[in-house]
Amino acid sequence: MTRKKKERGQLIVLSGPSGVGKSTVIAELLGQRKDIYFSVSFTTRAPRVGEADGVNYNFVDRAEFERMIAAGELLEHAEYVGNYYGTSMRVIEEKLAAGVDVLLDIEVQGAAKVRARCPEAALIFIIPPSFEELERRLRGRNTDSEEVITGRLQKAREEYRQIPSYDYLVVNDSVSEAAGEIISILTAEACRTRNRLHLIESV
Ligand code: 5GP
Repeated sequence: MTRKKKERGQLIVLSGPSGVGKSTVIAELLGQRKDIYFSVSFTTRAPRVGEADGVNYNFVDRAEFERMIAAGELLEHAEYVGNYYGTSMRVIEEKLAAGVDVLLDIEVQGAAKVRARCPEAALIFIIPPSFEELERRLRGRNTDSEEVITGRLQKAREEYRQIPSYDYLVVNDSVSEAAGEIISILTAEACRTRNRLHLIESV
């Protein structure tokens, strides 16, 4: 039996503190669910080594970012540690309208804005097995100064306070299990009655 395709894609928001391993979990998830579109954000921060424009982020200057805000081109945006980050409305809307699921990797202020504008979005927060483990992972990178690490831990504490407004909480103990839990969440979301009304239209 071929089922009628759903009309709109699912908007999925993923947040988590710096050092939780979110990018690795996302890579695993996208490897398994090739039908998901990952939204490439706009940012004013400088590219890190290995990052490419249009792949990891669309890198723009502050003037261009502020133009996009003024023109209403962003679904959401936030200032995070001195830089702007934002999601383009046009691409996301096109994908969702075509029935494609869209994944956003955004921080907590942006997630709250998405919640307000798109109440049907699924909000998922990823945490490490413990706060001590987060500290250990941040120190294990051996790339940041004590000041940067302390700042990230403080930021993580603030972000944790927003967790109760998320729909789902995933623990990144093992990458494959975390990705597996997210896939289960997406399956459950797809089975929501409101996402399946097209299956009973002709009755
Ligand atoms: P990073 O500079 O480490 O790549 O990202 C810093 C934070 O910005 C992460 O928590 C990431 O999820 C968040 N972020 C990335 N893109 C966006 C975006 O488009 N909007 C918002 N609000 N946050 C974003």
